[in-house]
Amino acid sequence: MDKLTKEQRSWNMSRIKSKDTLPEMLVRHALWHMGYRYRLYYKKLPGKPDIVMPKYKTVIFVHGCFWHRHENCKEASRPKSNSEYWENKIGRNVERDKKNIDMLEQLGWKVIVIWECQIDKNVDNAISFLKKILIENNILSSKLKNGTMPYDILESRA
Ligand SMILES: [Zn+2]
Repeated sequence: MDKLTKEQRSWNMSRIKSKDTLPEMLVRHALWHMGYRYRLYYKKLPGKPDIVMPKYKTVIFVHGCFWHRHENCKEASRPKSNSEYWENKIGRNVERDKKNIDMLEQLGWKVIVIWECQIDKNVDNAISFLKKILIENNILSSKLKNGTMPYDILESRA
């Protein structure tokens, strides 16, 4: 175990984790493709965020619409059987999410929540969406100001 590099270990971890969903993989792929580096499931932070970008003091959660109750989303509708059970279970998730986001913000982290239904299975669409999110959160532009290669240059070389 100790012979593994940090990258190998986080890769192994990411393979084992059951919460490793396709939309989450697409978000990570898109970020990586754009030249962003990140850590996964950083345990020291509240809620073990799915993706952590220490350089930008930003965390990203990729939330399943059902498990985290995406408001006004058809993917979030409850199963008809056992509805009380699900209501309680998901209610607790939502409470926990709120608490974790509050704590992260108090620690000075920027929190981005991406819903699974927002991520298109098409990688190019996922990248465009991520790009928009990063610009909205002043991450993409701050990167350009620092003189790092802009996304479009990376793209044209790919
Ligand atoms: Zn949704």
